Amino acid sequence: MTPDLPELTPLDSAFYPALDSMDLATRHILESYAEMRTGRVAPEWPLAQTEETIGELEFKNGLGLEGAVSEAHQLMEKGDLLSASARCFGYFNPTSAWPGVMGDLLVAARNPQICLTSHAPASTTMERSVSKFVLARLGLENGTAHFTSGGSEANETAVLVALCRARPDYLEKGVFAFGGQPTLYVSAESHMAWVKIAKATGIGSRAVRLVQTTGDGCMDVVALQSAIKADRKVGMIPFMIAATCGTTSAGMIDPLASCAKIAGLEDVHFHIDAAWAGALIFDEKRKTLLDGIETADSVTIDAHKWLAVPMGAGMIALREKHYAANVFSVQTSYMPEGDGEDMYITTNQWSRRFIGIRLWMMLRTLGLNGYQTMFDRHFALAAYLREQLEHHGWVIRNESKLPVIVFDDWLNGVDSQKIADQVENQGRAWLGRVNFEGQSVLRACTTSFLTEYDDIDILISELNTARKAIS
Ligand SMILES: *Cc1c(COP(=O)(O)O)cnc(C)c1O
Repeated sequence: MTPDLPELTPLDSAFYPALDSMDLATRHILESYAEMRTGRVAPEWPLAQTEETIGELEFKNGLGLEGAVSEAHQLMEKGDLLSASARCFGYFNPTSAWPGVMGDLLVAARNPQICLTSHAPASTTMERSVSKFVLARLGLENGTAHFTSGGSEANETAVLVALCRARPDYLEKGVFAFGGQPTLYVSAESHMAWVKIAKATGIGSRAVRLVQTTGDGCMDVVALQSAIKADRKVGMIPFMIAATCGTTSAGMIDPLASCAKIAGLEDVHFHIDAAWAGALIFDEKRKTLLDGIETADSVTIDAHKWLAVPMGAGMIALREKHYAANVFSVQTSYMPEGDGEDMYITTNQWSRRFIGIRLWMMLRTLGLNGYQTMFDRHFALAAYLREQLEHHGWVIRNESKLPVIVFDDWLNGVDSQKIADQVENQGRAWLGRVNFEGQSVLRACTTSFLTEYDDIDILISELNTARKAIS
């Protein structure tokens, strides 16, 4: 006789979705979106209080679903920076729009495993269809693209592809296939994930050559070309140039066409890291700002930045389908024979979430027109912010055409870090502090669809108050 299965009750609300627990979660979500419009941005609790509160909780006995949902909501509400706020000007990861959140929920519940095409043909095809759309917008119609956890994984994939292109036996011999130090070229203003990637791929951090800029945040292509030549002379093996399209600190765009030309002459892989600014492929009015992107062998775009979907959604686009084919391929007995394009053999991940639903939902709900409106708002807000900053005696340091502004007031001896800290303490707005071209500057981007002109006025007033408070 088989024993009775243990009953799931009284925890059944945790195992079976019910409308009232869903209602509770929905109510918390609505509270969060209301808070994003008008609430505090900085955490209400200092870190010590958050740690203490969480430290006192225990995991032995469950609270039941309602208790756990409300508790998690409250902890994040009190303890986290509200980076999705209309007045958080410090992040490239802005507010998640509702369609992506809903898509995520649908996927979390059904949990399709998309590593094998045959096990989730619908989800896989939906994801591929979004990828194809992105490829077409990039002018890389014959290529392939897939979703990644973020820009870092996408850039890492580009490095692996470039290493394989340079030395086909890299896959067998690893870095020994080169018989010397492989080197990749990025600007000094590029995203420092490159260093992490170099360590992780085994080429070592020395592989990353930081090329000087021309003083405006953009790669100096003359310096790039001479660095490659000098490195070759001493036995290093250049294999990749990665131009940045929209630097993280100041939104600057490297000269893409010139970089492409040098990559061609030097016969190295040409990557464009457009993690943030690449979103403008969806902006009919401004996509010319990305001119030259179509010359890349590979491009990184993060959907979880300017495309306003929940985090964990990057993309890598590759010019040729075959680039990715061998990099990740393996055979195992526990995976059925697939169609040769299964994502567990063509991408870095194995078990695989249907990440693309987030962008799918945005495009199916709003279409490109929705994104157009969003971008139009962001550029208008940035123009207003620029004007207001100058009007109030702040000095703008970057000449980006994108909605990210770096500025300071160091001529008057104002310490940018102190301003940023003071604005955070005041709590009503938040912005970053970065180094740009060797100067410590403040950084504000207008990339949330919730932001209004009033929010810019609040930021300006918070900045002016902070300047007074610290001087
Ligand atoms: C954000 C960013 C990255 C890193 O991407 P993640 O999604 O944070 O992993 C890389 N490059 C640039 C230019 C970025 O803006």
